[in-house]
Amino acid sequence: EKEAALAAAALPADSPTIFDKIINKEIPANVVYEDDKVLAFRDINPQAPIHILLIPKVKDGLSGVSKVPEAEERHIEILGRLLYTAKLVAKQEGLEDGFRLVINDGPSGCQSVYHLHIHLLGGRQMNWPPG
Ligand code: ADP
Repeated sequence: EKEAALAAAALPADSPTIFDKIINKEIPANVVYEDDKVLAFRDINPQAPIHILLIPKVKDGLSGVSKVPEAEERHIEILGRLLYTAKLVAKQEGLEDGFRLVINDGPSGCQSVYHLHIHLLGGRQMNWPPG
């Protein structure tokens, strides 16, 4: 996993990722929410009974970033929208008792896909600290 994160970090920040293919419907995904700015779909390798990824539909330009340190003031709206959408999806998934939101950033954070995404995890008791 750490090796995948290092390999991903070596790519240019604006390289297309697997998530661009999901947005463009070039590869299938189990989509649970979609609007003009945000897409949410089930993680292919779930770490909890419910594991959903929330991503901005445009990575570069005005509405998205590859990783948190690239965020600029103009991204405040989409960053807030991602969190707000996490709330909507958590409710849709019946996570009334709580859930975990995670952003893995860069090699040390174990980010492996360089298209900003929030992990929404739920359906089991979470532990702290994470690994
Ligand atoms: P990590 O791989 O360490 O969790 P990230 O935070 O970058 O790093 O998360 C990328 C996530 O994308 C992983 O949880 C992985 O299972 C998920 N993923 C990769 N490819 C797909 C895909 N085609 N469909 C759904 N989820 C995917």
